[in-house]
Amino acid sequence: HEPDLPRVIGTGAPVPLDDGGSIAYANFDYAASAPCLEAVHEAVTRTLPYYSSVHRGAGYASQVTTDAYESARETVRGFLGAWTRAAVVFTRNTTDAMNLLAHAAPPGTTAVVFETEHHASLLPWRRAVRLPAPANPAEAIEAADRALAAAPAGPRLLVVTAASNVTGEVWPIAELARTARRHGARIAVDAAQYVPHRPFDMTALGVDYVAFSGHKLYAPFGAGVLAGRSDWLRAAEPFLKGGGASDSVSAHGDRVRWSADAQRRHEAGTPNVLGAIALAAACDTLAATGWDALVRREERLLARLRRGIAALPGVRELTLWGTGVPRVGIVSFVVDGWNARDAALTLSGSYGIGVRDGKFCAHPFVGHLLSGAAADGAGCGEGDTAVRASFGLGTGEEHVDRLLRALAELVREPRG
Ligand code: PMP
Repeated sequence: HEPDLPRVIGTGAPVPLDDGGSIAYANFDYAASAPCLEAVHEAVTRTLPYYSSVHRGAGYASQVTTDAYESARETVRGFLGAWTRAAVVFTRNTTDAMNLLAHAAPPGTTAVVFETEHHASLLPWRRAVRLPAPANPAEAIEAADRALAAAPAGPRLLVVTAASNVTGEVWPIAELARTARRHGARIAVDAAQYVPHRPFDMTALGVDYVAFSGHKLYAPFGAGVLAGRSDWLRAAEPFLKGGGASDSVSAHGDRVRWSADAQRRHEAGTPNVLGAIALAAACDTLAATGWDALVRREERLLARLRRGIAALPGVRELTLWGTGVPRVGIVSFVVDGWNARDAALTLSGSYGIGVRDGKFCAHPFVGHLLSGAAADGAGCGEGDTAVRASFGLGTGEEHVDRLLRALAELVREPRG
């Protein structure tokens, strides 16, 4: 028996079809941005009457808002299993968080990063060793082990995603963290696609840094998190220089003492208070629902979708590791006889289904998967793209079945 699931706003809203009719929206684009939870909406609405500046204001509303902002930080700390003295920095999103970490890493740091990463985790590093897509999780661990052993002297940082935004496959984070530790290296985890679907405990996993985005976690846009060890962050000059990050500034503004608090130091300017509160409300709501129920439900829907796709001869799922690895609710595929853009637009215009097409900000990885699909006879070439269906709390079996029916019809009517 399923407990009451948190409700998302907009589920079932009508969308127009090309034939002039309309249909309840089937949102399969949660991996890009998930719809907002009702509980998040309520938390923001509750905060608005006391909406005021944080930290520096002395008025009652400022005190209340400051408390709410700092308690959002503590909620996120608990949600991530971060230790008491870990820095929990509110950023704009995962991209911002990873760039902040790249900026704060000491000069000469070597990042070891798989080519399967999202661009946000692949691109920010000044010095990087890039590893090709591993054939299985064990090979990922071996490759990281070898690369860390061979990396130049100096700080080393293994950067890895917890769940792929392309295939939904879950990476062996605990083992990779152990590998990093054995080499005296650190590990940064891109958990953007993981935390909306699975519990994450950075202390138990032995993870040094984690980044994620509120807008993929059922909260609105504009707030994300970088959590982890504070020493690099405390030592680095702020990337954003301004108020809040500085403890004192000399009479002519030529000498500054930056805050020794890693969080303040890297949150210059007025922070996105409502974004942080919304993000924390989403963390609270998911944790209070209980992960077991959420995971069981998602796995049932995912199995239904993947089984249905496997039964359609003209639709080929893109996977790196195939069966036998855990995955979250993300499936990418190509449809015979269709380019991804036309397939995605037809799914919208004829069926009211919202998917994404393209390379999902993971060009090397999708290129790799598509060249494999081409070798398997799916007819993909350089420059081709894929369709991605990703889902979450507002998705039901009826949506999955509509998507499968639509794909079966696409296969029967190739677009050329
Ligand atoms: N990493 C992963 C795995 C992602 O899926 C995304 C978003 N597609 C990002 C990073 C970047 O997130 P944001 O756009 O919120 O910065």
